[in-house]
Parts: sequence; structure tokens; C-alpha cells
Amino acid sequence: MTDQNAYAKIKQEFIDENEQFKGWQCEYCLYWMVDRTEVQVDHAIPRSRRPDLVCVKSNLRICCDPCNNDKGSRDEESYREYIKAKGIARVRMKKW
Ligand SMILES: [Zn+2]
Repeated sequence: MTDQNAYAKIKQEFIDENEQFKGWQCEYCLYWMVDRTEVQVDHAIPRSRRPDLVCVKSNLRICCDPCNNDKGSRDEESYREYIKAKGIARVRMKKW
């Protein structure tokens, strides 16, 4: 199995586990996602910095598409600070 396939598998497992546990909420901006196609998985510590953590679930975060794009190669902590400073809120109420 290639690394990419291994990650694709872990990613799907992670999305499934979150669905069962609490639904999909962006861990950064708290946006609730209702459609699986909206759900992104981010690496708290970016892949570029810790390639060894790419498939480690404790380094994975459910996140929305805009956050995934904005975060780029920032780590989790600095992205949270950025969101706070910018007052970014994409919060919407859970629909179910
Ligand atoms: Zn978000």
C-alpha cells in the first residue's frame, strides 16, 4: 500500500468516526457540515513539517474547506490565533 492510499484510508475512517461521535464540525471555525462532500481533514501539524504524522489520527482535525485553504502550512495554534484576530466565524447551527 502506498502512503497516499494509507492516508486515504485513515482519512475515511476518521470522517466515519467523527460522524458517529458527534457529526462534522470544523475544529477551527466551529462550522457544522451536513454533507460529507463538505468535510475536509486537516493536519494540525502540517505535513510539510511532520511527514511522519500524516497518518496519525491524533494529528488529524475535521475542518471546513475555507479553513483548510486558509490554514495552509500554519500549525494549529497559529491558525487559531489568526482566526481569533480576524474574527472569522463561519458558524451555522447544526441542522439535525
Ligand atoms: Zn472552518
